[in-house]
Amino acid sequence: MVGMSKDYNPHDEIMKTVDRAASLLGLEERDYIQLKYPERELKVSVPVRMDDGSIKVFEGYRVQHSGVRGPYKGGIRYHQSVDMDEVKALAAAMTFKCAVVDIPYGGGKGGITVDASKLSKGELERLTRKYTTLLYPIVGPHIDIPAPDVNTNHEVMAWFMDTYSVLNGQLTLGVVTGKPIPLGGSLGRREATGRGVLIIAREIAKKLGLKLPGSTVAVQGAGSVGGTAALLLHREGCKVVAIGDVSGTVYNENGLDVEEIVSFLRAERGRLLKDYDAPGLERISNEELLQLEVDILVPAALEKAIHEQNAPQIKAKIVLEGANGPTTSGADAILEEKGVTVVPDILTNAGGVVVSYFEWLQNLQSVKWDEDEINEKLENIMIKAFHDVWNMAEKAGASLRLGAYMLALDRLVTASKLRGLTF
Ligand code: GLU
Repeated sequence: MVGMSKDYNPHDEIMKTVDRAASLLGLEERDYIQLKYPERELKVSVPVRMDDGSIKVFEGYRVQHSGVRGPYKGGIRYHQSVDMDEVKALAAAMTFKCAVVDIPYGGGKGGITVDASKLSKGELERLTRKYTTLLYPIVGPHIDIPAPDVNTNHEVMAWFMDTYSVLNGQLTLGVVTGKPIPLGGSLGRREATGRGVLIIAREIAKKLGLKLPGSTVAVQGAGSVGGTAALLLHREGCKVVAIGDVSGTVYNENGLDVEEIVSFLRAERGRLLKDYDAPGLERISNEELLQLEVDILVPAALEKAIHEQNAPQIKAKIVLEGANGPTTSGADAILEEKGVTVVPDILTNAGGVVVSYFEWLQNLQSVKWDEDEINEKLENIMIKAFHDVWNMAEKAGASLRLGAYMLALDRLVTASKLRGLTF
């Protein structure tokens, strides 16, 4: 990865922020030391019969970071860069994210090291079912509840739920969230992370005196988070000038037709921006996207997109972290110095897990909520979390990232003390 030192460790990056938040809160290390280590780490070997008859063994992971505030919660990622350090970092981020939005979950994350685009649908299904079997002893609706993440979707969740249910001897809808709507999925879940990004965009724009309609936006990532965020910001009246995916970035200084782009990409599995064309469209690199002179930049792809080498070139006024961990701590310091407002991932992208929580509640109670009710509840939670974070940051004279970590850490340490878990 460009500009990365070899020993970059995403889990250590998060813990640096946790330490700084703890010192601003006046905590001693003994108050929160348990949060610096995952409670449980599982590594599994997943043998899969490939379509050509050969057997391939993939590496899979599930990390349960903290169960202090509730069952472990967090997605499953299929990507070639997945390793234990990444999954550990993402699991810890879930613990803090769930605490920021104050939903009764701890944090977990899973993943398989695989390039999902190279697998047929049948191979993906067999991979998912075998991985579920291997995770079976440590997941469950009151233990650990997975969900979609990068390159996994409602279909993968349906296979996970079915496999778990067969092993469990009963249909167990509440074991995963992000399921298809006819199979215990929740209305609004698929758009929830992107909708959360929109809600946070509105709040931060109000605080900074920016009029959202007419403001310019660049979005890195065109998947379920980036694609939906781009679409909703476009519908809000923003001028989305650039959208990028693994195949490159499409750019139009007068604004892209986001409706057309997103429906093009969603028409078939595996569609990429390189195959989209429209009059007036320019192609730029993903690095150029990050450096555009826009009001709002939404990194909504993978970790460490913004690092020490490219941070000095960022010209956006606001960075809304749709992805998990898109900004390294070195880059964070540079952006702060430049006066760029960074709204952190554990707040900005929390809409997904909030609606996962609603899905789980509906599953446990065998009820169905309507979409307006879900979106309204999501909005209330996100707005409250935004203001809690803002006030915490303001009181401490710290960045929004530190404010978010302080808020979460305070809630986690309080719960931990009440349970008598600290020494
Ligand atoms: N993968 C999403 C995230 O990183 C959603 C997790 C969930 O819904 O449990 O927040």
